[in-house]
Amino acid sequence: MWSPNKAWSNPAPAVEQIPVADVDRAWDVVVIGAGPSGSIAAGLLGRSGARTLLLEMDRFPREKCCGDGLTPDTVKFLQAIDAWPALQPHVFRHDTLKLRGAYGAELDAVMPVHSCRRAVTDAALAGWAVDGGARFVQGKAAGVTRLQDRRYRIDLFDRDEPLVARYVVLAGGCRTNLAIEYGLQEYRPSAMVALRGYVRTDRTIPFYISLIDAVQPGYGWVFPLGNGLHNIGVGFALNGRKTPGMSLRQAFGAFTSEDTIARSVTQNGEMVGARGTSWIRAGMPLSLEKANGGLLAVGEAIAATTRIDGEGVGRAVLSGRVAAEILTEALRVGNPDPALRYRKALASAMEPSYRIWHGLSYVMEHSRLVDRLIRLYKGVGLPKLIRYLYRGM
Ligand SMILES: Cc1cc2nc3c(=O)[nH]c(=O)nc-3n(C[C@H](O)[C@H](O)[C@H](O)COP(=O)(O)OP(=O)(O)OC[C@H]3O[C@@H](n4cnc5c(N)ncnc54)[C@H](O)[C@@H]3O)c2cc1C
Repeated sequence: MWSPNKAWSNPAPAVEQIPVADVDRAWDVVVIGAGPSGSIAAGLLGRSGARTLLLEMDRFPREKCCGDGLTPDTVKFLQAIDAWPALQPHVFRHDTLKLRGAYGAELDAVMPVHSCRRAVTDAALAGWAVDGGARFVQGKAAGVTRLQDRRYRIDLFDRDEPLVARYVVLAGGCRTNLAIEYGLQEYRPSAMVALRGYVRTDRTIPFYISLIDAVQPGYGWVFPLGNGLHNIGVGFALNGRKTPGMSLRQAFGAFTSEDTIARSVTQNGEMVGARGTSWIRAGMPLSLEKANGGLLAVGEAIAATTRIDGEGVGRAVLSGRVAAEILTEALRVGNPDPALRYRKALASAMEPSYRIWHGLSYVMEHSRLVDRLIRLYKGVGLPKLIRYLYRGM
């Protein structure tokens, strides 16, 4: 019999979240959304002395549908801003990433990868933001309007009186249309969809990504979370050359019956909790503006997640950091329109690596070629390339 306490043996740290009705009206910066992008932006702004409000519609700790994997660059970005110590006590470390191609080619890339349930990661990072001086509140933004004095009015669903801020950071992930409304994101339902569940087993399973034929044109994963708990899931891109001829549920069924590692986990384990599905706004369109006046968008709100592997936490952290640095400077010099500076800084921090990932996404659509590359280069170049791609931008 499943019991939540037993299943979630790694509980989320407590973080104080106050009702939005109880806070002041005027702020230097309001950050909308407390995923990794929003918490990092709010935590850095709080540390710089800015009066910062971190607004989150869900009560924390909250679940977030995710694979719960943390790539080496994610860790590197968190270390660079000294946020890693807040998360490190909660994560599990693995020394190898195992990759399987469509037709059975395998490779083990030796590199540190980490995993942590998102309910835990996001609570730890929101706690880091609070420790830095940001106020963390529960409330849902309904809209943002620029006022004549160039400040922003933030209307809320849960408070009659709006908030006012000099700058706004849109960090609402894939669940908000605010970035679309303000022209900072394209309208498209999503670039990817994914499904994940949790399974408990006493088998020893590697940190594993599978490209087996049964889930093409997508991929499956099994990420151990410690204490026998594993995140298992499948995802695919919706705008690639090949269209998926099956539903996510069918892909999950195919993964857990045809992939030997996924089958071993599910046959010898017990599924815990509910499965979750979500869109992923991925494949950041490089041509789009990501800011306007004093309104800056970060993380999945600008489709910062990569389209091949659905990795988005590291990119959320990095864009949150860039936004915070630009706004800290804007507050110091009194610049009401830091959008252009943000767009330039974001482009130099993120676009070079996106160009590589965009290019790779075309290679990945040819599963036979990928299998052949794994067989040919698994001893030499490929593990190096994977480490290079995840080494940080
Ligand atoms: C199934 C799946 C597997 C994935 N696996 C991985 C993985 O293993 N590793 C990885 O790095 N990435 C993974 N990703 C991608 C990753 O989850 C996202 O890229 C990441 O969460 C983006 O962070 P964010 O801060 O931009 O947005 P989010 O984490 O989505 O946070 C946005 C927050 O904003 C809040 N919000 C939204 N609208 C409002 C509003 N109007 N008012 C107030 N609050 C609001 C939401 O409640 C939410 O808490 C996966 C995604 C999916 C769906």
